[in-house]
Amino acid sequence: MPAHRIAGVCIDLSDMRYIESKDQSAQLLRLAIPLMVRQAAAYHPVSYGLWYEHVAGLNPPLSAALTARLEGNRPLSEDDVYQLYARHILERDAQVLETLQQRLQVLLETTVREVGTACDESGRFRQTLQESRSDLTSDASAATLQELVGRLLREALRMEATTQTLTEKLEARSQEVLSLTRQLNEAHSEALSDPLCGISNRRGFMSAAQALFDSEQGLDGAALVLIDVDHFKWVNDTFGHLLGDTVLRGIATVLRDNIKGRDVAARIGGEEFALLLPQTLLQGAHSLAEQIRLAVGQMRIQRIGTEEVIGSVTISLGLAIGRREETIDELTARADAALYGAKRDGRNRVGVA
Ligand code: GH3
Ligand code: MG
Ligand code: MG
Repeated sequence: MPAHRIAGVCIDLSDMRYIESKDQSAQLLRLAIPLMVRQAAAYHPVSYGLWYEHVAGLNPPLSAALTARLEGNRPLSEDDVYQLYARHILERDAQVLETLQQRLQVLLETTVREVGTACDESGRFRQTLQESRSDLTSDASAATLQELVGRLLREALRMEATTQTLTEKLEARSQEVLSLTRQLNEAHSEALSDPLCGISNRRGFMSAAQALFDSEQGLDGAALVLIDVDHFKWVNDTFGHLLGDTVLRGIATVLRDNIKGRDVAARIGGEEFALLLPQTLLQGAHSLAEQIRLAVGQMRIQRIGTEEVIGSVTISLGLAIGRREETIDELTARADAALYGAKRDGRNRVGVA
């Protein structure tokens, strides 16, 4: 469950997790249940997450969407639930990232201004020194000299105070920068990864694909494999959503175990995954896709305790190799067509564009 909350665009960074007490959350549970009962979707953590944030008033855009659905008397399906979750809870994490970046920028600008002020002060000090030197002629009277020493002393003390303040401010700022950088890194990897499976999410995948597209090589010679679980609705309906989620995590593990180096594995939709393999020949990509298909097919769904095998799943895959100058959308469309072909030809197979 993402631990960020955001009101409008303003967040309190010290307040990035659910902070309701046990009593408060029990009250929220009582409010959420009657609303969840009216939906077609099951009572899993993803759908509860939506209703929890709604009744707690944590997520105004989500509440607006849910209220419209309640008023229109249109119950939420499973797909609706996952779409709302992606849009209003996962997307929000990306907003958190943006807010952190803005705060870091403001911090740097403030520091630059403070250093600028100190530089002005030291400029004035230098000017005083220069003026003093010209006042320091051989026939300078004792009174002039005394006045000069007094002036220099005052300026030196002022400079010392400025330097002291600047040092303290810079010290505080660097602590703040360190803490923000850490939060930024955390939020960045959170915004790009899928909380359920621990691999990249759609955003992470698109960012990797964009980076490859922008590189000198472009998508030329890169392999894209799109993967869709076969009859996953049946898996959920038969074994329940929680087991469905475990299956998704199992598939993610297979993907992660079969890639290397710069390859990217991502969950890009509910039960859809993708692999992006830079500089990979068709034959190599095809045998990797086959290897993954077989490994997933060999996973066994077992009843806890008895080890009794109660089922298994298969996946269909679509493979395309990037062409010169091809865009991400064009390559995806070809891999998608290959995946569609694999489904049409009977599933549990690799289609090649
Ligand atoms: P096909 O072989 O044609 O792909 O059939 P399918 O049943 O897999 O296809 P469909 O797209 O109709 O169903 C996908 C289902 O995946 C619907 C939705 O409830 C379920 N789903 C989507 N995201 C998740 C998730 O995160 N967890 C679980 N358990 N189910 C999910
Ligand atoms: Mg699908
Ligand atoms: Mg499917």
